[in-house]
Amino acid sequence: MIALLYLLAGVLFILGLRGLGSPRTARRGNQIAAVGMLVASVVTVFWVIDQPLSALWWVIIVGAIVGGAIGGVLALKVRMTSMPELVAAFNGFGGGASALVAFAAIVATDTVVGTEVKYATETEVTVALSIAIGVVTLSGSFVAYGKLKGIITGKPVALPGGPYFNLMLVILMTAASVWAIAFNEPMGYWILAAIAVVLGVTGVIPIGGADMPVVISLLNSLSGVAASMAGFVIGNQGLIIAGALVGAAGFILTVQMSEAMNRSIANVLFAGFGTEGAAPIDAGDKPVNSATPEDVAISLAYAQKVIIVPGYGLAVAQAQHAVRELATALEERDVTVEYAIHPVAGRMPGHMNVLLAEAEVPYDVLLDLDQSNPKFPHTDVTLIVGANDVVNPSAREAGSVIYGMPILDVDLASTTVVIKRSLSPGFAGIDNPLFYMPTTMMLFSDAKAALENIHEALIEL
Ligand code: NDP
Repeated sequence: MIALLYLLAGVLFILGLRGLGSPRTARRGNQIAAVGMLVASVVTVFWVIDQPLSALWWVIIVGAIVGGAIGGVLALKVRMTSMPELVAAFNGFGGGASALVAFAAIVATDTVVGTEVKYATETEVTVALSIAIGVVTLSGSFVAYGKLKGIITGKPVALPGGPYFNLMLVILMTAASVWAIAFNEPMGYWILAAIAVVLGVTGVIPIGGADMPVVISLLNSLSGVAASMAGFVIGNQGLIIAGALVGAAGFILTVQMSEAMNRSIANVLFAGFGTEGAAPIDAGDKPVNSATPEDVAISLAYAQKVIIVPGYGLAVAQAQHAVRELATALEERDVTVEYAIHPVAGRMPGHMNVLLAEAEVPYDVLLDLDQSNPKFPHTDVTLIVGANDVVNPSAREAGSVIYGMPILDVDLASTTVVIKRSLSPGFAGIDNPLFYMPTTMMLFSDAKAALENIHEALIEL
């Protein structure tokens, strides 16, 4: 019965993940997966009754109440823009929990139950891996959290010896594991955990702050692998299934994010990419068409088709409601408005979708990269709100640092309006030839203020 109910929970997790594939079904997917987790949690209380530590069944109930209350409050209070930090913290705790399960299985069982439990060597190897991966996820996730919160510098911090320093830590961890397993020496597991804490920190600290969502996704995947391994150690199917799904889903997301930036995972982890606070670009004698909100309002008012391209600046300015209000005003004037969403616009997967959903922009006007690119040549005005790299035509030129990154072909529209505060570069730290094209109008302003001013000017027309 327990195995069947765990299987049911696994099916609900899969249906939930499937729902997360599209913004339209994501909310339902999340609810289905939450029901799966509830089933798995209740079943686990019954599962424990058969285990050596059955007398401690109440610990699970207390843990669920305390953990559930903390998680509930955090989820209710978190601002949408702080979601990556929250996910980082949850990942860290997930990894830490898996490591504790593995520790408890091997170190604590004989002390608490009073009987010596001797595990097979392969189980002990799994314990060592679960501790190593779980603890690396714990400390690595908290460094990622600190970078996103601004507690730790967002700049890549070079290590003495570079990646070789981390390689040395991995070798030391292997030696500690061998000591623990071959000589039946629990102290080896503690040393393994201590080195894993350091590896989590030194693994994440050389990575630029803006790459943290990719790192968090990878750590999420690792926390799943650690959980799955812990599930094998204690023979719990629920943990094996849930951990494997998290491991696979997190890894697929990591690969997809890297592909959308045309970078390898190795490049994200080792290249120290990203330019937090890069110097503004000097335009030199290149022509820049500066526009006023009134100029932009006129172009929009006389357009038939407008595509809005949101980027990281929309999130910084919290301009999602202002953009929606402007779009509604245009629609009232019979202008067709759609939104082109680049998969890595912003700083986390789905960043733009989340913001626009908050402002209740209907899903059917959101276009992905493949849907929007064929439309730009037939678009009168493309309104770019705080986006830069995802619309940079130099991605088409060999030799550019973003060469090969799929971009939105906004330069093919009749007129392009770019709203940003200056000519400063985006995340990739490079100039954008789009800003100097004769068909481009630059409106230098904070995104929210600019959109509100355009809206006002539109009403006056
Ligand atoms: P960019 O980082 O390329 O550019 C954002 C632009 O927003 C800046 O040039 C900035 O210009 C402008 N901006 C900032 N604040 C404001 C404001 N208040 N009002 C108006 N404009 C503002 O963003 P994109 O979304 O185009 O591209 C995302 C980048 O992040 C890509 O390089 C991607 O690879 C990377 N990335 C994305 C991840 C994801 O999951 N989405 C994860 C990791 C990296 P100015 O200062 O002049 O205003």
